[in-house]
Amino acid sequence: MADGADRGPAAGAADGRAPAQAPERAMWCDERFDFQSTFLQWLAKHVPNIYSAEMDPLVEEQEEMVQAGILYPLECYLFGEDPDIFLEKLQQSGTSQLCGKVFKGGETTYSCRDCAVDPTCVLCIDCFQNSIHKNHRYKMHNSTGGGFCDCGDTEAWKAGPLCTKHEPGASSSPKENSECQLNEEIMEHSRRVFPSVIKYMVDMLIWEEEKELPVELTISREKADSYYCVLFNDEHHSYDHVIYSLQRALGCELGEAQLHTTAIDKEGRRAVKAGHYASCQEAKEEIKRHSENVSQRPLHVEVLHADVMAHQKFALRLGSWLNKLMSYSSDFRQIFCQICLKEEAGSENPCFISKLMLWDARLHKGARKVLHELIFSSFFMEMEYKKLFAVEFVKYYKALQKEYISDDHDRVLSVTALSVQMFTVPTLARHLIEEQNVITTITETLLEVLPEYLDKNDKFNFQGYSQDKLKRVYAVIYDLRYVLVSKPTVWTDGLRERFLEGFVSFLRILTCMQGMEEIKRQIGQHIEVDPDWEAAIAIQMQLKNILLMFQEWCACDEELLLRSYRECHKAVMRCSTNGRSREKTVFHLCGHTLESRPYRVSADPVSIHLPLSRTLAGLHVRLSKTGAISRLHEFVSPEEFQVELLVEYPLRCLVLVAQVAAEMWRRNGLSLISQVFYYQDVKCREEMYDKDIIMLQIGASLMDPNQFLLLILQRYELVDAFKKIKPTKDQDLIKQYNVLIEEMLQILIYVVGERYVPGISNVTKEDVIMREIIHLLCIEPMAHSAITKSLPENENNETGLENVIDKVATFKKPGVSGHGVYELKDECLKEFNMFFYHYTKTQHSKAEHTQKKRRKQENRDEALPPPPPPDFSPAFSNVVRLLTCDVMMHILRTLLQRAVELETHLWTEAMIQMVLHLLSLGLLEEKQQLQKSPEEEVTFDFYHKATRMGSSAMNAVNVLMLLEKLKRVPQLEAQKDTVNWILQMFDMVKRLREKSSLATVGATSGSEATKADESTQDKEKAERKRKAEAARLHRQKIMAQMSALQRNFIETHKLLYENTLETQGKDDAIMEEESITSAIDYSRIALGPKRGPSVSEKEILTCILCQEEQEVKLESAAMVLSACVQKSTALTQNRSRILELSGDTLDPLFMHPDLPCGTHTGSCGHVMHAACWQKYFEAIQLNFRQRLHVEQIFDLENGEYLCPLCKSLCNTVIPIVPLQAQKINSEDAEAVAQILSLARWLEIVTGRISGYSMKNAKGEKQNLPPFTSKGSGNSALEFHSILSFGVQSSAKYSSSIKEMLVLFATTIYRVGLKVAPNEADSRIPMMTWSTCAFTIQCIENLLETEGKPLFGSLQNRQHSGLKALVQFAAAQRTTSPQVLIQKHLIRLLGVLLPNFKGEDTPSLLEVDMFHVLVGAVLSFPSLYWEDAVDLQPSSVSSAYNHLYLFHLTTLAHIMQIVISSATESPSAHSSDNSEEAQSAQSFCREVCQYTSGCFSQDIPGWLVWDCVKKGIMPYLRCAALFFHYLLGVSPPEELLQVSEEGQFKALCSYLSLPTNLFLLFREYWDTVNPLLQRWCADPVVLTCLKWKSIAIRYPRKRNHLIELPEDYSCLLNQASQFRCPRSSDDEQKHPVLCLFCGAMLCSQNTCCQELVNGEELGACTSHALQCGAGVCMFLKIRECKVVLIEGKTRGCLYPAPYLDEYGETDPGLKRGNPLHLCQERYRKLHLLWQQHCIIEEIARSQETNQVFFGFNWQLL
Ligand SMILES: [Zn+2]
Ligand SMILES: [Zn+2]
Ligand SMILES: [Zn+2]
Ligand SMILES: [Zn+2]
Ligand SMILES: [Zn+2]
Ligand SMILES: [Zn+2]
Ligand SMILES: [Zn+2]
Repeated sequence: MADGADRGPAAGAADGRAPAQAPERAMWCDERFDFQSTFLQWLAKHVPNIYSAEMDPLVEEQEEMVQAGILYPLECYLFGEDPDIFLEKLQQSGTSQLCGKVFKGGETTYSCRDCAVDPTCVLCIDCFQNSIHKNHRYKMHNSTGGGFCDCGDTEAWKAGPLCTKHEPGASSSPKENSECQLNEEIMEHSRRVFPSVIKYMVDMLIWEEEKELPVELTISREKADSYYCVLFNDEHHSYDHVIYSLQRALGCELGEAQLHTTAIDKEGRRAVKAGHYASCQEAKEEIKRHSENVSQRPLHVEVLHADVMAHQKFALRLGSWLNKLMSYSSDFRQIFCQICLKEEAGSENPCFISKLMLWDARLHKGARKVLHELIFSSFFMEMEYKKLFAVEFVKYYKALQKEYISDDHDRVLSVTALSVQMFTVPTLARHLIEEQNVITTITETLLEVLPEYLDKNDKFNFQGYSQDKLKRVYAVIYDLRYVLVSKPTVWTDGLRERFLEGFVSFLRILTCMQGMEEIKRQIGQHIEVDPDWEAAIAIQMQLKNILLMFQEWCACDEELLLRSYRECHKAVMRCSTNGRSREKTVFHLCGHTLESRPYRVSADPVSIHLPLSRTLAGLHVRLSKTGAISRLHEFVSPEEFQVELLVEYPLRCLVLVAQVAAEMWRRNGLSLISQVFYYQDVKCREEMYDKDIIMLQIGASLMDPNQFLLLILQRYELVDAFKKIKPTKDQDLIKQYNVLIEEMLQILIYVVGERYVPGISNVTKEDVIMREIIHLLCIEPMAHSAITKSLPENENNETGLENVIDKVATFKKPGVSGHGVYELKDECLKEFNMFFYHYTKTQHSKAEHTQKKRRKQENRDEALPPPPPPDFSPAFSNVVRLLTCDVMMHILRTLLQRAVELETHLWTEAMIQMVLHLLSLGLLEEKQQLQKSPEEEVTFDFYHKATRMGSSAMNAVNVLMLLEKLKRVPQLEAQKDTVNWILQMFDMVKRLREKSSLATVGATSGSEATKADESTQDKEKAERKRKAEAARLHRQKIMAQMSALQRNFIETHKLLYENTLETQGKDDAIMEEESITSAIDYSRIALGPKRGPSVSEKEILTCILCQEEQEVKLESAAMVLSACVQKSTALTQNRSRILELSGDTLDPLFMHPDLPCGTHTGSCGHVMHAACWQKYFEAIQLNFRQRLHVEQIFDLENGEYLCPLCKSLCNTVIPIVPLQAQKINSEDAEAVAQILSLARWLEIVTGRISGYSMKNAKGEKQNLPPFTSKGSGNSALEFHSILSFGVQSSAKYSSSIKEMLVLFATTIYRVGLKVAPNEADSRIPMMTWSTCAFTIQCIENLLETEGKPLFGSLQNRQHSGLKALVQFAAAQRTTSPQVLIQKHLIRLLGVLLPNFKGEDTPSLLEVDMFHVLVGAVLSFPSLYWEDAVDLQPSSVSSAYNHLYLFHLTTLAHIMQIVISSATESPSAHSSDNSEEAQSAQSFCREVCQYTSGCFSQDIPGWLVWDCVKKGIMPYLRCAALFFHYLLGVSPPEELLQVSEEGQFKALCSYLSLPTNLFLLFREYWDTVNPLLQRWCADPVVLTCLKWKSIAIRYPRKRNHLIELPEDYSCLLNQASQFRCPRSSDDEQKHPVLCLFCGAMLCSQNTCCQELVNGEELGACTSHALQCGAGVCMFLKIRECKVVLIEGKTRGCLYPAPYLDEYGETDPGLKRGNPLHLCQERYRKLHLLWQQHCIIEEIARSQETNQVFFGFNWQLL
């Protein structure tokens, strides 16, 4: 840092910004001083000091010094007052009408399809939301960066150019005020200040000396030897390469290298080393050397003097200062622009702005950004100056493009990318064409940059091209497109001349393409290397719309059209010289002769690139359309015209396609196949294939038809095939001939029949699109996007689909998956043409199949004749003569004859189909002509020609006769209907001819003929009808059988419970003599003396692996269910709670009432033998070990595998433990109740427990106080009394079951706690109980949110999974030491019974009571354990144990609810004075008393009751599920339905509770009273009550995915406002929304990575660890995709729940249609989460979609 004296003014002014502290202002102000030199001196003095520490800059401090030391005084001088105040005033007075917001990469832009002049006109999100276009058909897209908002540009919008924000009326002050807001003084100052500032900026930016500064900036003092080694950004070196090079060259740490690299990527350059010149030079060489090692070119490195670096940096700072200033006033902008455009008098030097433009490619990234933004904010905001800028731009266009092509930065960073901003403005484009000749400039630029691809014949050849370089050339082609995008409405002479000049220049490019990349058929050997073809095809694609636009422009004006036609014709002729040297040969057929030069596609070179011929065809059609064709002879004389030559090349191309289809070009490899594909593909066909067909039509209209057909035959090399039947045995050759004939016939059909081109017939563009859509939908119903993709796009990327789709199709909405489709309207079916020329082979046969099937279903014949085509326009009317000419007749007859004579090898069915189609076309044509004009005028006599005998022997039969014979050919059975149709047509045409000649007589004979005809027709029809009816009946019968089966199935499987009820009833009848009524009474209570019997059926299961059946028994080998254990936050009430990632120190016995994170066990419900599963698992393990390189979907180390049947992801198995059926005699049981009251039961249990403690403590004094008031009693005596009301021996499990119990329990422990497996850990039983409780809670939650009844509605897999889980949890106890289980039990009871309370026992408010219940019930039998014998409670004992444990936890839970309701305030008064309300009131009084008034007794009883009743519901429902699956007692009917009130009563009855829950307290008052007192006295409870800070309320809230806005652009809006919390730059971000909690994250960015356990995790992955315990669901907003992730390594994409109006999703916003939320799909996502199926979905998607293996999910 420089010395203090130097920093004086800066430091002084930094404190405050009062003008008084800036004395320099006076100095600049002073007229005696020359501003420029004073300013430069000032900069020379201060700039190097401010930017002295480049290696480790203190950015904020630098900025402060710049502000205070330089910018502030500058502004003071400029404005003449305090800048803040002045700018504030300026701001308020309103600014430009143009928005001009510059887009950053990734920002969403909007375009209106109704109003935008072209698709490059876009709005920023703010303007869009405030514009009328919001309600139009808009498109959203992600900007690539560099564009700007067109709001306010009246030329960009047909309507609504201004949003409400930019409308003049919207700003507070009137417009004129904003126009002249600067006074003369300020203007004067600006004119003094700006030139110096701009000159300094320009000089410094283009400064090339590394050691020296301009003299004006050099200060006298000694120049320090202080240099930087500066590294520049480029696009060739990857991030990693740069880091590597830096580490090697400078020996720096990875972190430092990363820091440098990030900065270089962002700013474009950075000093990586400071020091003396020599050392920097050395570093430079080192970096270059090392970077060369990794890639071919070295990195760009420079050594710069510190002062140079400082001034350059400040120059950029001045640039952004100017940028800011520009936004304040139009006057500033104008002055700035004037200065920038000012040329030095008498100098050749370019003006400032041009200098910068020309230097652009040499500037670093950061400098370019500043420069471009400055251009946007100044020139582009002022229309007049935009024009002047554009003129400068075009002036240097060639140089700029050449710079760009050799530049090493992306296009967005090039000044050439600004072209779109100027060229697409219609008036500007017109001006540039007229005054600057921009079309010629662009085409000449192309001609200058493309020569490196020219071969010796001056044709392009892109073999071995560089993709990157060619892509840069495309930018120039794009500019051409921009200039042409809006067709002028007014033509001046100048415009016409300039355009024509441009067109001629463009033809020169096409000349280089005409016939380029010729190919020759490979014979013998296969080609060695497939030639490059992509570049040529890519250029064709780029040019397609440009060619079309040129044609459109030419057609604006008759004169222009004819002149450009002449130019184009000349160009084609110039290119059609080859082969002229060959002698003409002559060939005859049917008495006609063709004289032509020999050429064979199969032997001579051929090219598919013929843009000149095709442009000519395009112009020709337009001549026909405009009628200008009548004047053609004035421009091209008939001798010059040479139509045969025009037809020649397109014909060759079509023949090539035919020969490829005939596999004659097999040896030329895939490259040719690809070219042929694109030739006909929608992306290219308009300017390739389609135009070739048109050219043939031109030929057919102008040539003699026989000559034309002879030419075709010759080019298809089929002369021999028709001349005589060649007795060849060469099967390949015959097959080849047959394909070629088919291909030729098809082309003939197209030439005659395809008339849907404006100009060829009188159709409109809409007609054309409708026809395309009809034919697409004839194949099958299609989605909107699929149709769009199959239609060609115009220059505005529109297909015109929307305008017509509703006329031809109806929309069918999508379901929960899939997409909406369009179905063809019935009335459009008649338009179907089987030989539609845009059908591919597959589409053709699919469509034919679909249509035939449809006709069959409608009981109609299967004939699919062509629809009547529209009439040719006059210029093309001669084409139809082809149909009636001799050669055509010869062809048709020959083929029919071959079919009739059964020369099977010489014809195919397809061929005959085409012959029939041609016949139909001929008949239709004649019929139409006859219907339009009198018979004698109709010269088209197809009927006559076809019924005439041929002259030669081969033609001895006429077509009509042949057709009759054809009907009998068995192979042509399928064509019979078509033949019949044609015969009818013959008849009809005949009658039409006769009718008009013999008007009256003909009528009767005609009708007779019809009658006769009809009778045969009727017969056939009747027969068909009969057949159809039979088929229908048959179908009906089968349907009936099916549905009967289905009904049966439903009947037998209706509801598990209905079924079991019956069996159970039967059992009862046999076993007991009890009355039926009491059996039913008893049967539906799960707890206590009235407990109903367990319903346990014999379970016989089939192993999915070995397919063998086995009954589930305690003593048999284990059967298991595949299962997946996962941590889950699905029920959490508090997402902000920090989860512990590893459970090493966790105590999982007690669950917090927030349910922050539980362990869920799910199953797909598939059963295996344990042994079979083990074998299976070992096999996959082995498999993977052998193929280590294969990426795994699942983690074998963690026991993961895919279910062998359904491929669900599993990580363990649940052993299936049979339910031990229990049944108690209720009379005995009720007798027991007399003795065993709750008090007594507690006493005994306490005794037992203290006895254990004594035993365990080996004589130490017992630390458990006596529980009941009755006093100590004799513990030794009590110790055994628990056994006295019934024990039985424990269940004996087979060793295999035991093994599985241990295995599963260990998995739960390992996954749930994220710890290493340890079979002996004391927490294993806790985890078992915990997952059991948590899984039940999840299922209860799911059923409730789905509105399903508690019982009977579970999916099969959920049902069997839960059953197995609960039974397992009950059995698991037996595999652990009983002492351990007892210990846990005592701790659990400590929550309820304060005398067992230990130090670590949580208070009543800190536990989830259902978890306590499950744990206590499952661990309770351990109290029956005796040293020697394994005992368990008898059925009766269990009944009481369950009852009392449940009642105790219920009491505690009611207490929890009552306490939490203390914060409730009554919202309404209720006069409810029910019994329950009164009980509640009196209960509250007690509680109030025990809490010394902390619990207010003002709360009305009815409110408390209400809270309790609502709050306890989930708990009761969970308890019912738990006891049901534990005991197998059938639940009451009411629980099989959804009903609020009935449910509560039924639950109470099932669980033996009084419906007035407070009666429970009354009933046990003596026992409960002391408990209540102790619960209330807990300090935690008291604090809660005092501060009214109850965290948790009951019922807990049910979690849902966050609410999403209906309109997707709202989300985009949110995302656009998203700022990364960690970094301040505005680089492209990927905002991602967590659907669980609504957090917006910055994903895939280093700034938000987090270090977790020593691993770098991306924002999403680390968020997921907390938010979803590793499993999470995100919405990537900019991409409109949902991402599911699990852990650090897995994830998948899922369609977002947003659909466009066509029922389709739009991943990546590729189509950009408005999107709306689909509730059903969002619900599906919600269920995916709540059913814990996310992991499963990920595994499934990864299995089917291997693409995502490469993705690094960790960094998401
Ligand atoms: Zn805007
Ligand atoms: Zn706006
Ligand atoms: Zn609009
Ligand atoms: Zn098995
Ligand atoms: Zn399965
Ligand atoms: Zn979240
Ligand atoms: Zn970030």
